[in-house]
Amino acid sequence: MKEVKNFINGVYETSSRQFDKTSPLTGEVIARVHEADRAQVNAAVLSAKAALNGPWGALSVDERVEKLYAVVDGINARFDAFLEAECADTGKPRSLASRIDIPRGAANFRIFADIIKNEATQAFQMNTPDGAGALNYADRSPVGVIGVVCPWNLPLLLMTWKVGPALACGNTVVVKPSEESPQTAALLGEVMNEAGIPPGVYNVVHGFGPDSAGEFLTTHPGVSAITFTGETRTGEAIMKAAAKGARPVSMEMGGKNAAIIFADADFDAAIEGTVRSAFSNCGQVCLGTERVYVERPLFERFVVAMKDRAQAMKIGVPEDADTDMGPLISQEHQKKVLSYYRLAVEEGATVVTGGGIPDLDPKYGGGSWIQPTIWTGLPEHARVIKEEIFGPCCHIAPFDTEEEVLAMANDNEYGLCTAIWTRDLARAHRVAHRMQVGLAWVNSWFLRDLRTPFGGAKQSGIGREGGVHSLEFYTELKNVCIKL
Ligand code: NAD
Repeated sequence: MKEVKNFINGVYETSSRQFDKTSPLTGEVIARVHEADRAQVNAAVLSAKAALNGPWGALSVDERVEKLYAVVDGINARFDAFLEAECADTGKPRSLASRIDIPRGAANFRIFADIIKNEATQAFQMNTPDGAGALNYADRSPVGVIGVVCPWNLPLLLMTWKVGPALACGNTVVVKPSEESPQTAALLGEVMNEAGIPPGVYNVVHGFGPDSAGEFLTTHPGVSAITFTGETRTGEAIMKAAAKGARPVSMEMGGKNAAIIFADADFDAAIEGTVRSAFSNCGQVCLGTERVYVERPLFERFVVAMKDRAQAMKIGVPEDADTDMGPLISQEHQKKVLSYYRLAVEEGATVVTGGGIPDLDPKYGGGSWIQPTIWTGLPEHARVIKEEIFGPCCHIAPFDTEEEVLAMANDNEYGLCTAIWTRDLARAHRVAHRMQVGLAWVNSWFLRDLRTPFGGAKQSGIGREGGVHSLEFYTELKNVCIKL
């Protein structure tokens, strides 16, 4: 049986308690994960602090950047091992993880190394009464030990999206991966050691949230700032923990994203993009679309095309090259998604396709498989329209005017992203501007330039990461005023 250990001060550590990691494909136990206790989390934070005040803090930016490039090379050199670990934990298709999760996981170290090397800070010259003047400039220093709390849907990618900039800015980290996806964070420890990253710079503690490693880490007074990706309710609990000591937080949280398809859209492109945004990664993408609004002249045709595409999806195991969709992450999550499938019917939805568990070989009977599902006919106040489901499902509703669709799309407590499909450029600008979201795509979805701001409006997040925006969170900006 595979054992997944904590990584503390450059060394793999076992714990007295372990928990099972089960395969989303079969429900079988695939690994025993060592659950860090309070003392181990404390040791991880103290080693991170020692590295900050020691070898890591002593490096110049150029030296730090070179080491991060070595991490990129190290991930790429072990590409297949990362791919296997990520697919085993999540059940996602290899075709997806090899294109997105692993290469982006590596790229996150390169992009932030490049940014910290090249980004200037502001300077202002000012007049003074004696005529000699003064010079102000902003100076960046690391914030300290960063607590990094991660979800399971894009484990390596979302973790390195935080660890990359944190380390580039000179901080050290203690990572708490999701209990559902512990393997790639642990594996990255080996790469860190091989790349010559000093012990204590990158630490991993495994476990759960309350009364486990998540809580021990976020309540630890030695953690200077906390970056979190996950559910909004969890984010609220972490914000409470961060309030003690007035520690800054960066929060990337839930979504209930709307796609808006105008009648003048490129139909095939809109279908292609909406199929991807609704069903990729079995619908477990924070940026995924669960609400689709289609201008009435296109509505019937759009629903039929979406249905055809959903029914043609090949549900299967990661290693099959033609697999479009794997299972959900766990049986617990499958229960949650199925409860929404039932609720949709109770709330009066027409089930266009799906709504249950697919027929698969009995050997996958213990897995957390689910059908891609499409509904129509729900009122806008239905819970299925309002709440994040995080499964491969969407509701499609018609609209008649731009004002009407803006009102419906914005009537939600979340505000992560939107995808707008139209050939009318003026309308694209107008609607993108009026959508209450952090990210608006026009005629695309999940097209990411890592230099751009990423984050959510309303209950989808606090703060922006990406490009120089990450530097705002991961560095302390100090004004130095020199009287000339
Ligand atoms: P989750 O909130 O259940 O768990 C996230 C992490 O928080 C896990 O590591 C978990 O162990 C930890 N945790 C739970 N309770 C905690 C506590 N009290 N203190 C400290 N840590 C705690 O989220 P999930 O189910 O892993 O991920 C799915 C959610 O993540 C969805 O809501 C999705 O929208 C969101 N998400 C958002 C983004 C984004 O960029 N906005 C990206 C990916 C996922």
